[in-house]
Amino acid sequence: MDKPFAITLDLGSSLANRTGAWRVERPVYRDFLPPCNKACPAGENIQQWLYDAEDGHYERAWRTLMADNPLPAVMGRVCYHPCQTACNRGQLDEAVGINAVERFLGDEAIRQGWTVPVTAPPSGKHVLVVGSGPTGLAAAYHLRLLGHDVTLRDAAPRPGGMMRYGIPAYRLPRDVLDAEIQRIVDMGVTLELDTRVTTVQPDLERFDAVLLAVGAQIGRRAYVPAGEAARILDAVQVLRDVEDADAPQLGRRVVVYGGGNTAVDAARTARRLGAEEAIIVYRRTRERMPAHDSEVVEALEEGVQMKWLSTIAHADEGRLTIEKMELDETGFPRPTGVLEDLEADSVVLALGQEADLSLVEGVSGLVVEDGVVAVDERLMTGHPGLFAGGDMVPSERTVTVGVGHGKRAARNIDAYLHGVASEAAPPAPDAEFGALNTWYYADAPHQVRPRLEGPRRAGTFDEVVQGLTAETALFEARRCMSCGNCFGCDNCFGVCPDNAIIKHPDGTYEIDYDYCKGCGLCVEECPCGAIEMVPETP
Ligand SMILES: Cc1cc2nc3c(=O)[nH]c(=O)nc-3n(C[C@H](O)[C@H](O)[C@H](O)COP(=O)(O)OP(=O)(O)OC[C@H]3O[C@@H](n4cnc5c(N)ncnc54)[C@H](O)[C@@H]3O)c2cc1C
Ligand code: SF4
Ligand code: SF4
Repeated sequence: MDKPFAITLDLGSSLANRTGAWRVERPVYRDFLPPCNKACPAGENIQQWLYDAEDGHYERAWRTLMADNPLPAVMGRVCYHPCQTACNRGQLDEAVGINAVERFLGDEAIRQGWTVPVTAPPSGKHVLVVGSGPTGLAAAYHLRLLGHDVTLRDAAPRPGGMMRYGIPAYRLPRDVLDAEIQRIVDMGVTLELDTRVTTVQPDLERFDAVLLAVGAQIGRRAYVPAGEAARILDAVQVLRDVEDADAPQLGRRVVVYGGGNTAVDAARTARRLGAEEAIIVYRRTRERMPAHDSEVVEALEEGVQMKWLSTIAHADEGRLTIEKMELDETGFPRPTGVLEDLEADSVVLALGQEADLSLVEGVSGLVVEDGVVAVDERLMTGHPGLFAGGDMVPSERTVTVGVGHGKRAARNIDAYLHGVASEAAPPAPDAEFGALNTWYYADAPHQVRPRLEGPRRAGTFDEVVQGLTAETALFEARRCMSCGNCFGCDNCFGVCPDNAIIKHPDGTYEIDYDYCKGCGLCVEECPCGAIEMVPETP
């Protein structure tokens, strides 16, 4: 028989030898927990939906995403994407643009009119959700999927909470927000707007369970020594007034006092309302500013000015006295006594928000600590059947945390209504960067989202950051290394010297342990570290 070049043995199959008997360790396919999934506060299975998206199966990808997060088009715009900070690809070149692909899928769903059917049989239980911000909306969505009747009640004339009345339209266009909210309402949620709950007590009797998600709506006031004619406004109120089409008159020079995202949004909004100068006055340095760097950069591009290490010593009509600060050894700002004057037609305070908890006064068992409602790991307050989540409980205050709380609350309310304990499956072990064979992955530059140029933004609330195209979204999804989860590359199938790997028609693999001798080649050559050697048990 003719043998190919450099082959001396006869060709044949090693299937004649049941080499499985030699094995002391066996390879096993695993689904590890990628760091992106672990870091997403909404608990998204990011690796899985990127895997679906990279084949162009956008609807399947969107449905996988929607299992955890009913607001992907919103989240793809406003989430601070901790998933990307954790992404393993960041150690190779740049993190996968998860947030941009999420937005692409969310926008695609709106364009295509995809909806989510409620298939669970009616449970006969009725849950009241107070507050239609991200927490309340996510909870209503998951509760409907579980078959419960939901009434979603809000004091405001339109739903969305801070997504509508805080985050400006240049970061979150209202048609996108409206579309994602409407899809949830269309699942059979009863929406009661313009209905403030002044006390929740009677509702505890009327409903089978209640979730409070009233956020932190009240702008924190700091004492600013001021003359009677000084014009001092609250940032949250200013942003709310803009949304109600009743744009506030801020004047030509606006000073915003604070260093968080709300301060940056207030200053950028002031520019759009016609202020020639918008100046952020902050007590610490830029490095210590809680606002996100990308938003600070965008504000600077729009001509917002920053006065670091400064505080307002006195406010008067048309002018302010600013005192310079310095940081002590612990990084705490302290006054220096050095004063300067600054012209300002109005001062906008952006010093954080507090929750209005008057609606829970007198509720037995419920505990308020440091201005927020105490909850257990199920998000249940000390009063049985009364749950709370989002900004009004102790946690990080973001839309994504709210969406995560909404899901967690819904699942625990469901367990409570069925009289069982809700048990989350223990998390899989982490998919470590060290377990990847990164040289298998081709160089692929991160796809940049186009942005409106800075000077074009003043005077318009048009969206600043644009989306990916179908082509760039696909490219970005394919940058995912599928950490710790098989993506069907056939490497193991190809390298196994004993042909011990069976490929099924659906693309999954199985190891035939009659033939696998435990050499570990498949583990060595799996790009994404999805196979693990485990000792044979005697
Ligand atoms: C200016 C600004 C910009 C922000 N930007 C971002 C961002 O880019 N990304 C991000 O992740 N987070 C951002 N946040 C934070 C984020 O908006 C909040 O963390 C999030 O909206 C909190 O969600 P929630 O559901 O707890 O409450 P909220 O969104 O505050 O919603 C609470 C709802 O409850 C209603 N309500 C209150 N009291 C009652 C009552 N007694 N009866 C009936 N209804 C009531 C309110 O009308 C409101 O609709 C921003 C916040 C602000 C203020
Ligand atoms: S919600 Fe935020 S953290 Fe979660 S996948 Fe989207 S961008 Fe990442
Ligand atoms: S490469 Fe993919 S699976 Fe791995 S952490 Fe990044 S997004 Fe997640």
